[in-house]
Amino acid sequence: METIPVNSIEFEYVYVANQRCACGGYFVAVRQELRQSPSGPVDHLLARCEGCGAERSFEFDIRSFFGQWERYGRFRQTDERFREAMSQLRAGRLAEAEAALRQVVDAEEGEPAFAWGHYHLGRVLLLEGQAEEARFHLERAAAIQPLEPEIHDALARALRATGEEEAARSHFQEGAALRERFPTE
Ligand SMILES: [Zn+2]
Repeated sequence: METIPVNSIEFEYVYVANQRCACGGYFVAVRQELRQSPSGPVDHLLARCEGCGAERSFEFDIRSFFGQWERYGRFRQTDERFREAMSQLRAGRLAEAEAALRQVVDAEEGEPAFAWGHYHLGRVLLLEGQAEEARFHLERAAAIQPLEPEIHDALARALRATGEEEAARSHFQEGAALRERFPTE
């Protein structure tokens, strides 16, 4: 199994809660266990789908902060940056939102596996006319959370803006198919 890079324990739970089961339900972590692997400490989370009860396990690479107490609790900063970005976005301040979102997904200071961070950064970049970079972040978001229709829609718009019409169409279709598969009440 591929380990997921994280910079905080809190984010492990956020990551799991954002993962969608094939039934459309979301996962909840039910058990956490620290394990030692040859390459370093790995946090193992067992999760259960709220919809169908299916279990899935996740492995997080915690080498970036393990044993460094001053680095614990860093997710609070990332979460604050994310909230700040959302309020800048609502106020139409794209440059400020972009700067905050770059910190949110920063590999050292933020959480590089935070799909909604990449999603919003991609949308902001697209609005700013930076389609190539928007596409990069939206592809990251889609790779982390492949079952979210709005991520496919945004990726499709970025692909269209970079001239990849065929790929754009396939992601628009994927978004529509997911919406049909998981109708929202
Ligand atoms: Zn399920």
